[in-house]
Amino acid sequence: MDAELAVIGLGSIGSMALWQASRLSDSVVGFEAATPAHGRSAAGGDTRLFRMVYLGRPDYYPIMERSRGLWAELEAETGQDILTRTGGLSIGTANGSFINSLLETTRSNGAEHRVLGREELAERYPQHNLRPDDCAVFDPRAGVLRTDRAVSAAVAAARANGATVLQNTPVDGITETDHGVVVTSGDSTWTFERVIVASGGWSRRLMPDHLKAVTETHRIVLTWFVAQDGRQFSPENFPVFSRLYGDRSLYGAPAVDGVTVKASVDGPLDGRGRETPDPGSVPRELTPQEIEKVTEIVTDFLPGLVPTIVRSDAFPDLFTEDRHPLLGWLDENSRVYCATGFSGKGFKMATGYGWIAAHEALGKETVDGLGFVRPNRFRTR
Ligand SMILES: Cc1cc2nc3c(=O)[nH]c(=O)nc-3n(C[C@H](O)[C@H](O)[C@H](O)COP(=O)(O)OP(=O)(O)OC[C@H]3O[C@@H](n4cnc5c(N)ncnc54)[C@H](O)[C@@H]3O)c2cc1C
Repeated sequence: MDAELAVIGLGSIGSMALWQASRLSDSVVGFEAATPAHGRSAAGGDTRLFRMVYLGRPDYYPIMERSRGLWAELEAETGQDILTRTGGLSIGTANGSFINSLLETTRSNGAEHRVLGREELAERYPQHNLRPDDCAVFDPRAGVLRTDRAVSAAVAAARANGATVLQNTPVDGITETDHGVVVTSGDSTWTFERVIVASGGWSRRLMPDHLKAVTETHRIVLTWFVAQDGRQFSPENFPVFSRLYGDRSLYGAPAVDGVTVKASVDGPLDGRGRETPDPGSVPRELTPQEIEKVTEIVTDFLPGLVPTIVRSDAFPDLFTEDRHPLLGWLDENSRVYCATGFSGKGFKMATGYGWIAAHEALGKETVDGLGFVRPNRFRTR
């Protein structure tokens, strides 16, 4: 046996799983095909939104709570600033389905929030060009996560705790035997008691057929615009936001560099990104339609931004059919634990998912109430 646990993929979630596992065991190894926080993973593009007021199942709330505490622990342990609290705005039509669903989830899970009527919203956040019937739900604990710092910090913390990190080591195969899990990369093989698969958009290559059938790798596009007045869009003055009006949606983050504001089109509710066949060569150029759409929405929603894209990029993420992650053992007798399929929304909870994966894979604790993310939900078809 080479070690108790291997984590395959040291991106957003795998880096956190390795960090957490390194606190629980002195026998953990991380494999990364490239290098941790390399620019083409789902952690690419500098920032991700963190929020506690969240549209979706209330069951995510305990994971978000756990994640919030762990982001602070990662900062304290590594001395890095990772989560900048900016507050968050979800803007939509008062009494429309977006705001109503958001409030229903928020009230049922008890997340701290405040409803801002149009007048107060316009006064406090004049950056947003509002419609007469707009309102917002303000999330005081939302903020912006620095992705590269987060992943690098988690890997450094894992190393400091004694974890082995094998970078530029792409795993080609994992085979379960009676004695453990055999992992191969090129001509090398290792045997581990258990393995966590956290290889993001690339995970389908290591998955059984029934999970390949219910997953797709999507390409998600990010765009940045220059602020006419940088102070108006600074982290102190401009909360992270998500806005929905009819079939137009936009989300973004303040100018963490003092100049450029992230403002990108989101799929209405759950339709983020498009399928892409090869996660390793996601087309980075935007299509003319993509450019036209985001420019038109930004011109309308955020008139304080110069309405031309100054930077854009695209990154892969693994989506499941029901848009919930694959977090748990492949099946009850398996030694392979999945931590993938975060469907365009995993980063905010990366620390929490990493904690759950490490504790469960090392047999330290099983977390209840997660039936909706367990991979065996797709077994029954
Ligand atoms: C553009 C974009 C915007 C997003 N915005 C938000 C947001 O605002 N808020 C939010 O919460 N979420 C957001 N998400 C979602 C979130 O970023 C992803 O769900 C999350 O980053 C996925 O992490 P991952 O660890 O599964 O994948 P990754 O971070 O891609 O990590 C996978 C790693 O595995 C490695 N790897 C692959 N194959 C192998 C192999 N065979 N052997 C070894 N290593 C391997 C890769 O090199 C990579 O480093 C966004 C996603 C994208 C793409």
